[in-house]
Amino acid sequence: MAGKLYLVPTPIGNLGDISRRAAEILEGADFIAAEDTRVTVKLLNHLELKKPMTAYHRHNCETAGAAILRRLQGGESCALVTDAGTPAISDPGEDLVALCAAGGVEVEAIPGPCALTVALSVSGLPTGRFAFEGFLPLNKKNRRARLDALADETRTMIFYEAPHKLRATLDDLADALGPDRRLAVCRELTKLHEEVLRTTIGEAQARYAAQEPRGEFVLVAAGRPAQEEAPDGDGALARAEELRRAGLPLKQAAAQAAEEFGVKRRELYNQMLERERD
Ligand code: SAM
Repeated sequence: MAGKLYLVPTPIGNLGDISRRAAEILEGADFIAAEDTRVTVKLLNHLELKKPMTAYHRHNCETAGAAILRRLQGGESCALVTDAGTPAISDPGEDLVALCAAGGVEVEAIPGPCALTVALSVSGLPTGRFAFEGFLPLNKKNRRARLDALADETRTMIFYEAPHKLRATLDDLADALGPDRRLAVCRELTKLHEEVLRTTIGEAQARYAAQEPRGEFVLVAAGRPAQEEAPDGDGALARAEELRRAGLPLKQAAAQAAEEFGVKRRELYNQMLERERD
């Protein structure tokens, strides 16, 4: 019978955040797969546990993943931990979960600390709908494309960032979303020097131009405000019909109204065509 992979969240700064259930799973598993065994050994020492460990990280995930899968298929149980937070959220755990799912091994997730939910909940921004963006792509072209796609995003957006890239990311967010967009800069969450700065992108740029960013950051940006909700489809249709009544051919009326209201020409044309057929 196949064993089981347990996804065990670990504290993102405060060791007191390890749950009793997480500790029990670590104790009961046959072995632990850890992103960095030197980090995890500190947690095990805190819990007074000793366990066989194997490394599973970005640079060995293919070979280590296959080896862990074989052990699980052989009936062992494995607790997967990463350096901090919930495995598989912006860390290599996601590949191991996919491998196990494809290989017929059961995966059980234990709830626990995760930087994104801590940051979102404390941000003061709308939490009803949100888009987790993780780390922005490093590749210039992909980064540009991602940021362009976010310009119209109306949900609250959450980004992870390393301190040495924070300034560049704030600049890019200012370009894509505008400097006046509300932003919560959540730093060193659950740690001694935890700080939540509820500000705007522009003010955050000014702050970190004057001060070296240090520590771990999550950025939570407000979505595009509702009043900027363009394009106005109803307005465009009404205008196109007005132009039709004034004698313009269908195609030309659609093109002109689409231009004036910033809507898609083809969609407006089809909409008018349907109306005129009725
Ligand atoms: N799996 C983790 C989780 O559940 O949050 C995230 C791993 S990702 C490799 C690491 C990123 O999470 C950091 O670069 C930072 O953006 C964020 N992060 C982790 N701990 C944090 C903390 N205590 N305060 C603020 N951000 C944190």
